[in-house]
Amino acid sequence: MSSRRKFIQASVLGSVVIAGNKKILAQSVLPAPVIDQPVVVSTWDFGKTANAEAWKILAAKGRALDAVEAGVKIPEADPSNQTIGYGGLPDRDGHVTLDACIMDEFYNCGSVMALEHITHAISVARLVMEKTPHIVLAGDGALQFALANGFKKENLLTPASEKAWKEWLKTAKYEPVMNIENKLFDKDHDPMPGGPNNHDTIGMLAMDAKGNLGGACTTSGMAFKMHGRVGDSPIIGAGLYVDNEVGSATSSGVGEEVIRIVGSHLVVELMRQGHSPENACKEAVQRIIKRNPEKAKNIQVGFVALNKKGQYGAYALQKGFTISVRNAKEDKVYHSKSIY
Ligand code: ASP
Repeated sequence: MSSRRKFIQASVLGSVVIAGNKKILAQSVLPAPVIDQPVVVSTWDFGKTANAEAWKILAAKGRALDAVEAGVKIPEADPSNQTIGYGGLPDRDGHVTLDACIMDEFYNCGSVMALEHITHAISVARLVMEKTPHIVLAGDGALQFALANGFKKENLLTPASEKAWKEWLKTAKYEPVMNIENKLFDKDHDPMPGGPNNHDTIGMLAMDAKGNLGGACTTSGMAFKMHGRVGDSPIIGAGLYVDNEVGSATSSGVGEEVIRIVGSHLVVELMRQGHSPENACKEAVQRIIKRNPEKAKNIQVGFVALNKKGQYGAYALQKGFTISVRNAKEDKVYHSKSIY
Protein backbone atom coordinates (compact mmCIF):
# COMPACT_ATOMS: atom_id res chain seq x y z
CA MET A 1 0.00 0.00 0.00
CA SER A 2 1.40 3.43 -0.83
CA SER A 3 2.39 5.58 2.11
CA ARG A 4 -0.17 8.11 0.95
CA ARG A 5 -2.97 5.54 1.12
CA LYS A 6 -1.75 4.35 4.52
CA PHE A 7 -1.76 7.94 5.65
CA ILE A 8 -5.30 8.51 4.44
CA GLN A 9 -6.41 5.36 6.23
CA ALA A 10 -4.75 6.59 9.40
CA SER A 11 -6.61 9.88 9.10
CA VAL A 12 -9.96 8.12 8.78
CA LEU A 13 -9.23 6.13 11.92
CA GLY A 14 -8.37 9.30 13.87
CA SER A 15 -9.85 9.95 17.28
CA VAL A 16 -10.17 12.95 19.52
CA VAL A 17 -7.93 13.41 22.52
CA ILE A 18 -8.34 16.19 25.03
CA ALA A 19 -5.40 18.39 25.95
CA GLY A 20 -6.48 20.65 28.81
CA ASN A 21 -9.76 21.95 27.47
CA LYS A 22 -8.64 21.78 23.84
CA LYS A 23 -9.69 18.93 21.57
CA ILE A 24 -7.03 17.65 19.22
CA LEU A 25 -7.49 15.02 16.53
CA ALA A 26 -5.08 12.13 17.10
CA GLN A 27 -4.35 9.65 14.34
CA SER A 28 -4.73 6.03 15.38
CA VAL A 29 -1.46 4.78 13.90
CA LEU A 30 1.81 6.31 12.86
CA PRO A 31 2.10 6.75 9.10
CA ALA A 32 5.03 5.55 7.04
CA PRO A 33 8.05 7.61 8.07
CA VAL A 34 8.38 10.99 6.44
CA ILE A 35 11.99 11.75 5.64
CA ASP A 36 12.09 15.47 5.65
CA GLN A 37 14.30 17.82 7.60
CA PRO A 38 13.73 19.65 9.76
CA VAL A 39 11.38 17.85 12.12
CA VAL A 40 10.29 18.02 15.74
CA VAL A 41 8.57 15.26 17.72
CA SER A 42 7.40 15.39 21.29
CA THR A 43 5.55 13.36 23.87
CA TRP A 44 1.79 13.63 24.29
CA ASP A 45 -0.87 15.75 22.64
CA PHE A 46 0.17 18.94 24.40
CA GLY A 47 3.39 18.57 22.43
CA LYS A 48 1.50 20.03 19.47
CA THR A 49 1.56 23.59 20.81
CA ALA A 50 5.14 23.12 21.99
CA ASN A 51 6.11 21.87 18.53
CA ALA A 52 4.58 25.00 16.99
CA GLU A 53 7.03 27.14 18.95
CA ALA A 54 9.96 24.89 18.10
CA TRP A 55 8.92 24.90 14.45
CA LYS A 56 9.28 28.70 14.22
CA ILE A 57 13.00 28.24 14.90
CA LEU A 58 13.44 25.14 12.76
CA ALA A 59 11.61 26.64 9.77
CA ALA A 60 13.90 29.68 9.99
CA LYS A 61 16.90 27.32 9.80
CA GLY A 62 17.68 27.74 13.49
CA ARG A 63 19.46 25.24 15.68
CA ALA A 64 17.69 22.14 17.03
CA LEU A 65 18.89 22.98 20.54
CA ASP A 66 17.25 26.42 20.44
CA ALA A 67 14.08 24.89 19.02
CA VAL A 68 13.64 22.29 21.75
CA GLU A 69 14.31 24.80 24.51
CA ALA A 70 11.78 27.26 23.10
CA GLY A 71 9.29 24.46 22.47
CA VAL A 72 9.18 22.95 25.93
CA LYS A 73 8.96 26.38 27.55
CA ILE A 74 5.36 26.53 26.29
CA PRO A 75 3.96 23.77 28.56
CA GLU A 76 6.36 24.84 31.32
CA ALA A 77 4.56 28.20 31.46
CA ASP A 78 1.04 26.78 31.03
CA PRO A 79 -0.77 26.55 34.38
CA SER A 80 -3.43 24.26 32.90
CA ASN A 81 -0.75 21.62 32.39
CA GLN A 82 -0.38 20.15 35.87
CA THR A 83 2.54 17.90 35.07
CA ILE A 84 5.15 20.38 33.87
CA GLY A 85 6.58 23.65 35.18
CA TYR A 86 4.31 26.35 36.60
CA GLY A 87 1.14 24.75 37.95
CA GLY A 88 2.70 21.29 38.22
CA LEU A 89 1.25 19.03 40.90
CA PRO A 90 3.38 19.18 44.04
CA ASP A 91 5.13 16.43 45.96
CA ARG A 92 3.43 14.91 49.00
CA ASP A 93 4.73 17.77 51.18
CA GLY A 94 3.27 20.44 48.89
CA HIS A 95 6.46 21.48 47.08
CA VAL A 96 6.46 21.79 43.28
CA THR A 97 9.84 20.36 42.30
CA LEU A 98 10.95 20.27 38.68
CA ASP A 99 13.29 17.96 36.78
CA ALA A 100 14.69 18.88 33.35
CA CYS A 101 17.55 18.18 31.00
CA ILE A 102 18.77 19.24 27.59
CA MET A 103 21.33 17.83 25.13
CA ASP A 104 22.89 19.11 21.93
CA GLU A 105 24.62 17.68 18.87
CA PHE A 106 28.04 17.61 20.53
CA TYR A 107 27.13 15.44 23.57
CA ASN A 108 26.93 18.62 25.61
CA CYS A 109 24.25 18.25 28.23
CA GLY A 110 22.83 19.96 31.29
CA SER A 111 20.33 18.97 33.93
CA VAL A 112 18.51 20.23 36.99
CA MET A 113 16.89 17.98 39.54
CA ALA A 114 14.33 18.81 42.20
CA LEU A 115 14.47 22.50 41.32
CA GLU A 116 11.89 24.68 43.09
CA HIS A 117 10.50 28.17 42.36
CA ILE A 118 11.63 28.53 38.73
CA THR A 119 9.16 27.96 35.88
CA HIS A 120 11.67 27.41 33.10
CA ALA A 121 13.71 24.56 34.50
CA ILE A 122 14.82 23.75 30.96
CA SER A 123 16.57 27.10 30.60
CA VAL A 124 18.37 26.56 33.89
CA ALA A 125 19.47 23.14 32.62
CA ARG A 126 20.79 24.79 29.47
CA LEU A 127 22.76 27.30 31.54
CA VAL A 128 24.22 24.47 33.61
CA MET A 129 25.38 23.01 30.30
CA GLU A 130 26.77 26.25 28.93
CA LYS A 131 28.09 28.09 31.98
CA THR A 132 29.41 25.45 34.34
CA PRO A 133 31.92 22.62 34.09
CA HIS A 134 29.18 20.31 35.43
CA ILE A 135 26.21 18.47 34.00
CA VAL A 136 23.80 18.25 36.92
CA LEU A 137 22.78 20.70 39.63
CA ALA A 138 20.21 19.59 42.20
CA GLY A 139 17.85 21.15 44.73
CA ASP A 140 19.02 24.28 46.55
CA GLY A 141 22.21 24.42 44.50
CA ALA A 142 20.22 24.49 41.27
CA LEU A 143 18.00 27.26 42.67
CA GLN A 144 21.00 29.27 43.86
CA PHE A 145 22.58 28.97 40.40
CA ALA A 146 19.33 30.03 38.70
CA LEU A 147 18.94 33.10 40.94
CA ALA A 148 22.58 34.04 40.38
CA ASN A 149 21.86 33.97 36.65
CA GLY A 150 18.92 36.32 36.76
CA PHE A 151 15.95 33.97 37.19
CA LYS A 152 13.30 35.26 39.55
CA LYS A 153 11.91 33.19 42.42
CA GLU A 154 8.24 32.34 41.84
CA ASN A 155 5.49 30.39 43.55
CA LEU A 156 4.77 27.52 41.18
CA LEU A 157 1.89 26.06 43.20
CA THR A 158 -1.31 27.29 41.56
CA PRO A 159 -4.65 27.24 43.42
CA ALA A 160 -5.81 24.32 41.23
CA SER A 161 -2.76 22.21 42.03
CA GLU A 162 -2.92 23.11 45.71
CA LYS A 163 -6.57 22.04 45.76
CA ALA A 164 -5.71 18.72 44.06
CA TRP A 165 -2.94 18.11 46.60
CA LYS A 166 -5.23 18.87 49.55
CA GLU A 167 -7.84 16.49 48.17
CA TRP A 168 -5.17 13.84 47.76
CA LEU A 169 -4.01 14.36 51.35
CA LYS A 170 -7.47 13.43 52.66
CA THR A 171 -7.07 9.83 51.60
CA ALA A 172 -3.40 9.48 50.78
CA LYS A 173 -1.35 6.81 52.41
CA TYR A 174 1.88 8.54 53.34
CA GLU A 175 4.03 6.36 51.17
CA PRO A 176 5.46 6.59 47.67
CA VAL A 177 2.92 5.58 45.08
CA MET A 178 3.93 4.39 41.64
CA ASN A 179 0.56 5.05 40.08
CA ILE A 180 -2.32 6.99 41.43
CA GLU A 181 -5.84 6.16 40.44
CA ASN A 182 -7.26 9.45 41.60
CA LYS A 183 -10.86 10.47 41.20
CA LEU A 184 -9.66 14.03 40.72
CA PHE A 185 -8.46 13.08 37.29
CA ASP A 186 -10.67 13.14 34.25
CA LYS A 187 -11.22 9.52 33.32
CA ASP A 188 -12.27 10.39 29.78
CA HIS A 189 -8.88 11.88 29.17
CA ASP A 190 -7.00 9.33 31.16
CA PRO A 191 -8.63 5.94 31.21
CA MET A 192 -5.42 3.97 31.52
CA PRO A 193 -3.41 3.13 34.60
CA GLY A 194 -0.37 5.32 34.88
CA GLY A 195 -1.81 7.63 32.27
CA PRO A 196 -1.08 11.20 31.48
CA ASN A 197 -2.80 13.01 34.28
CA ASN A 198 -1.01 11.71 37.34
CA HIS A 199 2.43 11.85 35.83
CA ASP A 200 3.45 13.27 32.51
CA THR A 201 6.41 14.89 30.88
CA ILE A 202 7.30 16.74 27.74
CA GLY A 203 10.23 15.18 25.96
CA MET A 204 11.06 16.88 22.67
CA LEU A 205 13.45 15.81 19.91
CA ALA A 206 14.35 17.93 16.91
CA MET A 207 16.46 17.75 13.78
CA ASP A 208 17.36 21.08 12.23
CA ALA A 209 17.94 22.08 8.61
CA LYS A 210 21.62 21.17 8.95
CA GLY A 211 20.65 17.68 10.07
CA ASN A 212 21.81 18.27 13.64
CA LEU A 213 19.85 16.88 16.59
CA GLY A 214 18.84 18.37 19.93
CA GLY A 215 16.59 17.20 22.73
CA ALA A 216 14.90 18.49 25.87
CA CYS A 217 12.86 16.93 28.63
CA THR A 218 11.03 18.71 31.47
CA THR A 219 8.50 17.68 34.11
CA SER A 220 7.17 18.21 37.61
CA GLY A 221 7.51 14.44 37.92
CA MET A 222 5.18 12.04 39.57
CA ALA A 223 2.34 13.80 41.36
CA PHE A 224 2.55 13.65 45.17
CA LYS A 225 5.93 11.95 45.04
CA MET A 226 8.23 11.77 48.08
CA HIS A 227 10.04 15.06 48.65
CA GLY A 228 13.40 14.77 46.89
CA ARG A 229 12.29 12.02 44.50
CA VAL A 230 13.88 12.42 41.08
CA GLY A 231 12.56 10.55 38.06
CA ASP A 232 14.09 9.64 34.73
CA SER A 233 13.43 12.98 33.05
CA PRO A 234 16.59 14.90 34.13
CA ILE A 235 18.85 11.85 33.91
CA ILE A 236 20.89 11.88 30.71
CA GLY A 237 20.49 8.47 29.09
CA ALA A 238 17.30 7.64 30.97
CA GLY A 239 14.72 10.35 30.14
CA LEU A 240 16.66 11.78 27.18
CA TYR A 241 19.59 10.94 24.97
CA VAL A 242 20.96 12.54 21.83
CA ASP A 243 23.71 11.06 19.68
CA ASN A 244 24.19 13.17 16.60
CA GLU A 245 25.60 10.22 14.65
CA VAL A 246 22.57 8.03 15.21
CA GLY A 247 19.46 9.64 16.64
CA SER A 248 17.71 10.70 19.80
CA ALA A 249 15.11 9.37 22.22
CA THR A 250 13.02 10.50 25.16
CA SER A 251 10.46 8.97 27.49
CA SER A 252 7.42 9.54 29.61
CA GLY A 253 5.83 7.37 32.25
CA VAL A 254 7.03 5.75 35.47
CA GLY A 255 10.57 7.07 35.65
CA GLU A 256 11.90 4.40 37.98
CA GLU A 257 11.36 1.76 35.30
CA VAL A 258 13.05 3.92 32.65
CA ILE A 259 16.08 4.58 34.86
CA ARG A 260 16.61 0.84 35.48
CA ILE A 261 17.09 0.16 31.77
CA VAL A 262 18.70 3.55 30.95
CA GLY A 263 15.86 3.70 28.48
CA SER A 264 16.61 6.56 26.09
CA HIS A 265 20.25 5.55 25.70
CA LEU A 266 19.09 1.99 25.05
CA VAL A 267 16.75 3.19 22.31
CA VAL A 268 19.55 5.17 20.63
CA GLU A 269 21.95 2.22 20.82
CA LEU A 270 19.31 -0.05 19.29
CA MET A 271 18.92 2.43 16.42
CA ARG A 272 22.72 2.34 16.03
CA GLN A 273 22.41 -1.42 15.56
CA GLY A 274 19.93 -0.87 12.76
CA HIS A 275 16.53 -0.86 14.45
CA SER A 276 13.93 1.57 13.20
CA PRO A 277 12.87 4.21 15.75
CA GLU A 278 9.61 2.35 16.42
CA ASN A 279 11.33 -1.03 16.83
CA ALA A 280 13.97 0.43 19.10
CA CYS A 281 11.25 1.90 21.32
CA LYS A 282 9.40 -1.44 21.32
CA GLU A 283 12.54 -3.34 22.38
CA ALA A 284 13.06 -0.93 25.26
CA VAL A 285 9.46 -1.35 26.41
CA GLN A 286 9.89 -5.13 26.23
CA ARG A 287 12.99 -4.87 28.41
CA ILE A 288 10.78 -3.30 31.10
CA ILE A 289 8.29 -6.14 30.79
CA LYS A 290 11.02 -8.79 30.98
CA ARG A 291 12.16 -7.55 34.38
CA ASN A 292 8.75 -7.62 35.96
CA PRO A 293 5.87 -8.67 33.72
CA GLU A 294 3.21 -8.32 36.42
CA LYS A 295 4.22 -4.80 37.34
CA ALA A 296 4.51 -3.77 33.70
CA LYS A 297 0.81 -4.53 33.19
CA ASN A 298 -0.17 -1.77 35.60
CA ILE A 299 2.13 1.08 34.73
CA GLN A 300 2.72 3.27 31.72
CA VAL A 301 6.02 3.96 29.98
CA GLY A 302 6.28 5.37 26.47
CA PHE A 303 9.33 6.11 24.34
CA VAL A 304 9.63 8.27 21.25
CA ALA A 305 12.68 8.30 18.99
CA LEU A 306 14.00 10.25 16.02
CA ASN A 307 16.84 9.02 13.82
CA LYS A 308 19.30 10.89 11.60
CA LYS A 309 17.11 10.36 8.56
CA GLY A 310 14.32 12.29 10.22
CA GLN A 311 12.31 9.09 10.77
CA TYR A 312 10.40 8.93 14.03
CA GLY A 313 8.62 6.24 15.96
CA ALA A 314 7.15 5.46 19.36
CA TYR A 315 6.06 2.55 21.52
CA ALA A 316 4.40 2.30 24.91
CA LEU A 317 3.43 -0.29 27.48
CA GLN A 318 -0.23 0.77 27.57
CA LYS A 319 -2.65 2.26 25.12
CA GLY A 320 -3.07 6.01 25.32
CA PHE A 321 0.45 7.28 24.75
CA THR A 322 0.46 9.93 22.03
CA ILE A 323 3.19 11.81 20.22
CA SER A 324 3.08 15.13 18.39
CA VAL A 325 4.94 15.60 15.13
CA ARG A 326 5.73 18.70 13.10
CA ASN A 327 7.68 18.95 9.88
CA ALA A 328 7.21 20.64 6.52
CA LYS A 329 4.46 18.18 5.62
CA GLU A 330 2.53 17.51 8.78
CA ASP A 331 1.46 18.89 12.13
CA LYS A 332 -0.23 16.00 13.87
CA VAL A 333 -0.80 13.97 16.99
CA TYR A 334 -0.48 10.18 16.67
CA HIS A 335 -1.41 7.33 18.97
CA SER A 336 1.60 5.20 19.67
CA LYS A 337 1.40 1.44 19.34
CA SER A 338 1.52 -0.39 22.63
CA ILE A 339 2.09 -3.84 24.06
CA TYR A 340 -1.15 -4.05 26.09
N1 ASP B 1 8.82 10.23 33.74
C1 ASP B 1 8.38 11.21 34.69
C2 ASP B 1 8.85 10.85 36.05
O1 ASP B 1 8.93 9.68 36.39
C3 ASP B 1 6.92 11.41 34.73
C4 ASP B 1 6.15 11.14 33.46
O2 ASP B 1 6.65 11.22 32.39
O3 ASP B 1 4.99 10.81 33.51
O4 ASP B 1 9.09 11.74 36.82
